Amino acid sequence: MAPRVYVVDDDALVTESLGTALRLETDWEVATFNDARVALAEMDGAPPDVVLSDLKMPALPGIAFLGKVRERFPTAVLLLLTGYADKESAIRAINEVGIWQYVEKPWDTADLLLTIRQGLERRDLVGTLHRTNAELEGRVREVEAAHQRLVASERMAAVGRVAAGLAHELGNQLALVGYAEAIAARTEDRKVKQFAEVIVAAQRRLAAMVDELKDFARGTDEEYAREPADVAGVVEEALQILRFDRELTGRKLRPHLRARPLGRIHRGKIMQVVINLVRNAAQASEIGDEVEIAIAEEDGGTLLKVSDRGTGMSAAVQARLGEPFFTTKERGSGLGLGISRRIVEEHGGRLVVRSEAGVGTEVSVWLPGLEVAATATETETETETGTGTGTA
Ligand code: ADP
Ligand code: MG
Repeated sequence: MAPRVYVVDDDALVTESLGTALRLETDWEVATFNDARVALAEMDGAPPDVVLSDLKMPALPGIAFLGKVRERFPTAVLLLLTGYADKESAIRAINEVGIWQYVEKPWDTADLLLTIRQGLERRDLVGTLHRTNAELEGRVREVEAAHQRLVASERMAAVGRVAAGLAHELGNQLALVGYAEAIAARTEDRKVKQFAEVIVAAQRRLAAMVDELKDFARGTDEEYAREPADVAGVVEEALQILRFDRELTGRKLRPHLRARPLGRIHRGKIMQVVINLVRNAAQASEIGDEVEIAIAEEDGGTLLKVSDRGTGMSAAVQARLGEPFFTTKERGSGLGLGISRRIVEEHGGRLVVRSEAGVGTEVSVWLPGLEVAATATETETETETGTGTGTA
């Protein structure tokens, strides 16, 4: 597109001859004005690429006029026409308004054209530079984010390896503690029997923790069978089991399970998620408090919400939530939430924690519906048979 050039001078002779010269020598779109205010009004509909203005104009002086143009069109090339005597103020305007050049009257047309062309060229270069710069900054941010993700995933992998070894070793040693059961069964001594039973109970708790640890250390790529099922049904089953959980005594579980959306799920894994979340909610609550477990249909999938009015979490606790082994409980493993999130993500869903200290916590789990789940599996297969870069 041809550059649009505004020529503004209160002297009609000047605009006439300059306009004619520019039109003759170039294919630019040249418009001439004898009143700077009229020129300004015109610019709204037709933004200028170049503005050539006289310095001394009665209605609106050249520097003030070009200042207004600069405010509205930061990239326009501005030139000031001056008589020899006004050189000083012209030079000042170069810095004040950001004028490209001043041109002395009488002008040499060839020089003037060259000056304007150089101005346009510089403007284009600066534009390209800005764009390249912005692009580069975007790339740098992307690389930084990718680096952060890599560091985090490597740390997780290292923790996972340590956990796997630990779980194996603990499991072996724990089997020996099973002798306590034999002692409890064989002894006639009531005190010894009692002590042995304490050990047996501790062993069960530890074994459960080792199971969690093994679950955590398990690689994410392991596939497990899923079947169409309603999550509400799984919640009902989980609640049956939780009735026997001593840590839940006195907490009122309030299920809202009227909606029965279907999903493609591993019932056992999803039950584990429900149990983890409800236990966390109950552990944060006092006896007599309510814990709500609600199912709803959302975005073609299932939304499960577990909410409590318990202790809530401080910002510091929330910041560390994803961290394995992070727990604020004396007997916590600090793995429940992380495992739950992973199971949910393996199902193509997402887990979001919202919490306020002293108010309560709401954990939302969204799982895709039957159709969404089917498409997700298809895309996964495509990525695997493709170039192999799909997991970035
Ligand atoms: P654990 O329950 O073994 O501590 P989790 O991974 O399940 O491990 O939870 C990690 C931590 O997150 C808990 O120790 C607790 O501080 C916090 N937390 C999780 N759920 C809740 C909740 N509903 N209310 C308050 N704090 C919670
Ligand atoms: Mg927990």
